[in-house]
Amino acid sequence: MKHYDFVLAGGGLAGLSLACRLARSPLGSKSMLIIDHDKDQQSDRTFSFWTTGSGPFDDAVCRSWRHMRVAGSCTEQRIDLDPYRYKTIRGRDFYRCARGLLADRPSIEFADGHIDSIEDGERAATVRFDDNEVTGTWVFDSLLEPAQAMNNGFTRLKLTFVGWEIETSEPSFDADVMTFMDFRTPQRDDLRFIYVLPFAVNRALVEYTAFTTGRISGSEARAALTAYLESVVGLQQFSILSQEGGCLPVTDQPYPRRLGKRVMAVGIKGGRLKPTTGYAFTRVKADSDAIVASLLQRGHPFDVPQGEPSFRWLDSIMLRVMAKHGGDMHAIMETFFAKNPAERVLSFLDEEATPLDILQLMATLPAAKFVEAALLN
Ligand SMILES: Cc1cc2nc3c(=O)[nH]c(=O)nc-3n(C[C@H](O)[C@H](O)[C@H](O)COP(=O)(O)OP(=O)(O)OC[C@H]3O[C@@H](n4cnc5c(N)ncnc54)[C@H](O)[C@@H]3O)c2cc1C
Repeated sequence: MKHYDFVLAGGGLAGLSLACRLARSPLGSKSMLIIDHDKDQQSDRTFSFWTTGSGPFDDAVCRSWRHMRVAGSCTEQRIDLDPYRYKTIRGRDFYRCARGLLADRPSIEFADGHIDSIEDGERAATVRFDDNEVTGTWVFDSLLEPAQAMNNGFTRLKLTFVGWEIETSEPSFDADVMTFMDFRTPQRDDLRFIYVLPFAVNRALVEYTAFTTGRISGSEARAALTAYLESVVGLQQFSILSQEGGCLPVTDQPYPRRLGKRVMAVGIKGGRLKPTTGYAFTRVKADSDAIVASLLQRGHPFDVPQGEPSFRWLDSIMLRVMAKHGGDMHAIMETFFAKNPAERVLSFLDEEATPLDILQLMATLPAAKFVEAALLN
């Protein structure tokens, strides 16, 4: 049975980000195996994030914006993000860039295969896939499993994305401004919005996004996208160049990081998807940095920040408000963006806001709903 220093069980965002971070570290010569059952890894999703600096996958960024829009039925805000930039990496470019950074390293191997089990051990964990068995001193697990059992007092919602990259024959978009949230789509007692990444005046990714307690059908999302494109953007005709979508669980219930003596959960499975935003890219990068620092300083990967309890508490409250007052969320979000500078909002969503910033942000939220949610248990 072949042994590796690191086995990445799942080579999606978290697996590849961590592999690249390990490869760039003093641990870069250690042996590594990345196992994934999706050998084609196409553009199944588009990764976007806001940042003030540069990152390891900048070569894969296809577009960045300095301005964003938040729109509702009565208001439209154009927001200057400076010093942030909102950047987008197409999934296929991310996978290609990450695999390129890992290529030509004799200590790094890839395997195509379906992982059936990961078994913890004293000195190594065993990973079984197809007809193979390997061991790893450290195994990083990003395989999503059926939703974990929910404990009382926690909230779980479904985050659904259905996106079309479309092309039009006439200029139809302002290519300088991305639309963070446009609430001009039926809310149906949930937080639902359209997100638009204009790559050019005649080409954009237009994505239906919804936080719901129940499941949304694909036909409902597609009908909402068509209605938005016809009635809000004013398009009679467009071609769909590609599609993406998914449904992710979002919850305030903590995900265990340590799955055994030798196994650590990463990515969504390690709680890296921020439940109130659905963004994971920046958090996965920070987590990869922390895991490598822990390996170097402690000799194990588990000494990573748990996240500030105050931000976890605020996420819990926000999820409860989203679950109970989903239909009011569009007005709450519009006010939130109107009454706070972008830098304050984005640093808050990154969990980097100061206590004063948090107080100022809280003051712009409807007190009664949030106090009620804070008291709920
Ligand atoms: C449509 C869509 C758009 C998104 N947009 C954004 C965005 O703009 N910004 C952002 O920050 N986040 C976004 N996200 C959320 C988030 O970044 C992703 O879900 C992210 O991919 C999570 O990383 P992960 O490594 O945990 O999971 P994944 O990237 O899904 O990786 C898991 C990997 O494990 C493999 N796998 C699973 N089971 C097995 C098995 N049994 N055997 C072998 N391999 C297996 C899968 O093939 C996959 O490659 C989006 C998500 C979706 C679905």
